[in-house]
Amino acid sequence: MADDLHEECGVFGVWAPDSDVARMTYFALRALQHRGQESAGIAVGNGSTVLVRKDLGLVTQVFSDADLSAMHGKVAIGHCRYGTAGAKGWESAQPHLSTINDVIIALAHNGTLVNFDDLRRELIAAGIPFRTNTDSEVAAKLIGYFTQLGHHLRTGIRDTMRMLEGGYAMVLIRENALYAFRDPHGIRPLVLGNLGGQNWVVASETCALDIVGAKFVREVRPGEIIRISDDGLKSQQGVEPRAAANCIFEHVYFSRPDSVKDGSSFYLMRNRMGHRLAQETPVDADLVIPVPDSGMPAAEGFAAELHLPYGTGLIKNRYVARTFIQPTQELRKLGVRMKLNALPDVVRGKRLVMVDDSIVRGTTSKQIVQLLRDAGATEVHVRSASPMVMWPCFYGIDTGTQDQLLAARMNLEEMRDYIGANSLGFLSPEGLLGCCPKVGYCHACFTGRYPVEVSKQYWNDRFLEGFEPTSLERSPETAHMSIEELAARSEREFEEAAADEKVAPAAGVAVAAGAPDEKAEQVETGAQPETGEQHV
Ligand code: SF4
Repeated sequence: MADDLHEECGVFGVWAPDSDVARMTYFALRALQHRGQESAGIAVGNGSTVLVRKDLGLVTQVFSDADLSAMHGKVAIGHCRYGTAGAKGWESAQPHLSTINDVIIALAHNGTLVNFDDLRRELIAAGIPFRTNTDSEVAAKLIGYFTQLGHHLRTGIRDTMRMLEGGYAMVLIRENALYAFRDPHGIRPLVLGNLGGQNWVVASETCALDIVGAKFVREVRPGEIIRISDDGLKSQQGVEPRAAANCIFEHVYFSRPDSVKDGSSFYLMRNRMGHRLAQETPVDADLVIPVPDSGMPAAEGFAAELHLPYGTGLIKNRYVARTFIQPTQELRKLGVRMKLNALPDVVRGKRLVMVDDSIVRGTTSKQIVQLLRDAGATEVHVRSASPMVMWPCFYGIDTGTQDQLLAARMNLEEMRDYIGANSLGFLSPEGLLGCCPKVGYCHACFTGRYPVEVSKQYWNDRFLEGFEPTSLERSPETAHMSIEELAARSEREFEEAAADEKVAPAAGVAVAAGAPDEKAEQVETGAQPETGEQHV
């Protein structure tokens, strides 16, 4: 449940010229549907142009069999969205189409760009029109701007990455190529899979690779740009990687339990969180129940650790998804009962431990506790398999402002009282990190230590008085440049690189006449790995 917390989006891309790429994307989006349920879209490149279909609604509502049959092509991207930055109407659905001279591109984005307002203002001042107020359109327009100056899409993407601040995983197509790129901290996830030979996919999670029969190859590296075309798969470092900051909330809640990250399934990690939670906050009870579905792995671990019975006390209505048909005021009063129902036969007369993945606003937990008491539970002890969420997220998760976060407004006893539980316990930040593979994480929503600088404009209205976020790193110099300054710098670098090439080509590197980005690819492809991934 995660208190109705929302991931912003799921993205998918496929290069497979002899396959039905639109249908493949459709099924991948269905696997990623949990990441966004407000709109869905697919764009297909057929060698001469790009076609897009998108609309508000679930993937199954947006696409018919006939729609997919009409979308032939060799390359496709897809997107499912829960929007936080900008408007939520049809225009904001993705993929976002734009043109660069005669070339049509389609872009799909997961994440949030913290400096998109400033960039948007600059682009508007430069005479570039906007249709939406989304950060994704800003990225698309910036790519167009820099591509026109540098004459290559790859340099356009690279220069755009030098200016963007925040968490992002993006996929982009033109008529004959697929691009995938990821923020330099690796905040938002993006993985690469292989369908056999030179057929490739990229996706937010590995569950989307499984559904189309692709084998996991590796993650798209932080700051990397991958390009896939008739020339195969090529990689270049768009911007230097920075301190690794994988979003730890993917581990707590967002990713599907059967997806895999750093060699471990999210199911296993969440089960470990339950064990650790039981060690940190033990309780004597008759039955451990999960808040379905996301609390299940941790509840299993909690029960196993304390040798307590584990059971089903709550049933979830799987078909109440985000919908545009709003309930009446009378039905809205039912709140969580629209989604969950208690099983009186199971919970009556019992001392329960109710395990959830997290407690964010607290309203859902409060209603579920009441539901269980109404069904006859004698005690309800609430346990959260993640630490207290005290700080807002700026990198692609809708946690709202700090005043909406229960743990920012109340101490533990006040929260227990508000929720109506007999006892309340949270996993510690150290405990959470101890359950996940040893890589770098963003855990700012628990600790207030932000990997990407949080600009002052957010401070005024997003944080409660007395809270001061810590920025772990200053943004790089290029993120503070104006668009014109960066364009001038790129031009200078291009000229210097061209002069260097004339003087001294590097030994063993075939330096072709061409743009610097092409040279960068040749340098990388000069040292081929031993795996089947020939061009990476
Ligand atoms: S602040 Fe929290 S939700 Fe946002 S990216 Fe960091 S870990 Fe994820």
